[in-house]
Amino acid sequence: ILRVDNLTKTYASAGHALTVLHAVSFELAAGDTFAIVGPSGSGKTTLLGLCAGLDRATSGSVWLNNIQLDNLSEDERAAVRNQHVGFIFQNFQLLPTLTALENVLVPLELRGQRGAAKTALALLDRVGLADRAHHYPAQLSGGEQQRVSLARAFANRPAVLFADEPTGNLDPDTSERVVNLLFELNREAGTTLVLVTHDLELAAKTQRTLRLRGGKVVEPAVMAEKR
Ligand code: ATP
Repeated sequence: ILRVDNLTKTYASAGHALTVLHAVSFELAAGDTFAIVGPSGSGKTTLLGLCAGLDRATSGSVWLNNIQLDNLSEDERAAVRNQHVGFIFQNFQLLPTLTALENVLVPLELRGQRGAAKTALALLDRVGLADRAHHYPAQLSGGEQQRVSLARAFANRPAVLFADEPTGNLDPDTSERVVNLLFELNREAGTTLVLVTHDLELAAKTQRTLRLRGGKVVEPAVMAEKR
């Protein structure tokens, strides 16, 4: 479902080039649960963004659901994301002028899905927020916003759900709730999970872990299954 081959990313900033990923490779099958761990600045978020088609690599390739992302235009990548990818951002990135329900509706309406409002409400109910459907992000707690973000990411039943620090700013109870939801979606819908996390307990729940340091893989994902 996801193949990353010799991926390198170099940022050009302030007149000099900074290579933050060096020849990273791994491959995931549909339904896998996968964690990317490593110290701050090791390139985790960058790698996640490249896998999800949010950004383009400097060299190497990414195949997502048999689509090669490397040579696609920005618009083509956006179409692939909308079709195949769910993304949970570190800072949620909900649209502040839309209610919780409207935020979840966005990807459904982009796809012209019928009965979108009903689906969106069912998703909010699933994350325990049916009673907050008409609240704006600013009226929700961090954990509630994170759950809206999860409902939105799952709206299109993506083949792969990418989550950047899904438990980063949550209290232990909310964190457990979000993690349980993620793994339920994996079990029920076969959604492949790719998680960036500092939380080693969460990483331990996934089948495989990729450890990055200074943009290089120190512990390859090809290791034996943990369970
Ligand atoms: P954290 O755990 O702190 O979120 P991370 O492992 O996710 O870190 P990245 O966000 O991928 O790390 O960043 C890797 C490196 O790339 C960092 O040194 C960062 O400063 C640099 N970087 C990230 N985005 C850009 C950018 N757009 N332009 C220039 N440098 C960048």
